[in-house]
Amino acid sequence: MSEYYIGVDLGGTKIYTALADEKGKIISGNKMATEADKGEEVIINNILASIESVIEDSGVAKKNVEKIGIGSPGPLSVRKGIIYETANMSWEKVTIVEIMEEKTALSVKLENDANAAALGEKWFGAGKDIDDLIYITVSTGIGGGIVINKRAYHGFDGAAGEVGHMIVEPDGPQCGCGNYGCLESLASGTAIAREGKKLVKSEQVETMIREMSSNDPEQVDALLIAEAAQKGDKIAQDLYSKAGWYLGIGLANLINLFNPEMIVLGGGIMKDKELLDDSLEKSLEDRALPSSLKQVNICKVKLGDEAGVKGAIAVAMEEKLLS
Ligand SMILES: [Zn+2]
Repeated sequence: MSEYYIGVDLGGTKIYTALADEKGKIISGNKMATEADKGEEVIINNILASIESVIEDSGVAKKNVEKIGIGSPGPLSVRKGIIYETANMSWEKVTIVEIMEEKTALSVKLENDANAAALGEKWFGAGKDIDDLIYITVSTGIGGGIVINKRAYHGFDGAAGEVGHMIVEPDGPQCGCGNYGCLESLASGTAIAREGKKLVKSEQVETMIREMSSNDPEQVDALLIAEAAQKGDKIAQDLYSKAGWYLGIGLANLINLFNPEMIVLGGGIMKDKELLDDSLEKSLEDRALPSSLKQVNICKVKLGDEAGVKGAIAVAMEEKLLS
């Protein structure tokens, strides 16, 4: 008898749910609005509706669904199956595993979204056949997941792998977490944009960023700065170089600590990875232990927009994949 698995990629704006066969191939999928501002009951009902919809569209009998994997932003407890809170979502301390198991009569497993994406890349993406990898996503923030011996490393309560809050500059700018000089405060899209905005405000520096944003700091984002850099603007290139340099420090720390075989880089900023490459490589060479640096393959994600849902499917399938 065939077994099927459901992955739920729970986000602040949308829920992406898919049903896959035992090889991880997606058979049916569904995207719907999270309606995050409407509170716990509405969000739970939307998740349930998306699950029912993928089962119905697939034609698979519900009894053949083995497990549901949920990838969610944290902080959360994998052990207890509780989501403590989620930025931009009006709920807190939700016993999601218990609730979903009761309502669906299926087995449910919870995972932090970055760990889920790391597992997705490990099993279905860039990291097939790789046992030890680190996944890093660089977009408005910086997140990550550490896979050790084929399993996501959770730490005591599921909060491990917060690579964005690794301190890379003790006197650096303040991070969203309250600390100073976290990698996220120096190499994320938000950090790159913050420096670009400052330049436009200062009115001293000649840069295309100024014209492209019509001299309005509010129009400046990482994407606009990337465009200016690609057109040859030295100042914009420097902003990306600086972010790449800090990213190199972060990666060197991870390489020295974990000796991974692969580091998979994803997120919006990595679409313009070539703007970071020179300074990133230089920074890595200066800091990573040479023997470990030689062994690591640093590459881009393979799963793209499906990383979240494929990751959630990997969470559901984990025991089978490991067997
Ligand atoms: Zn931080």
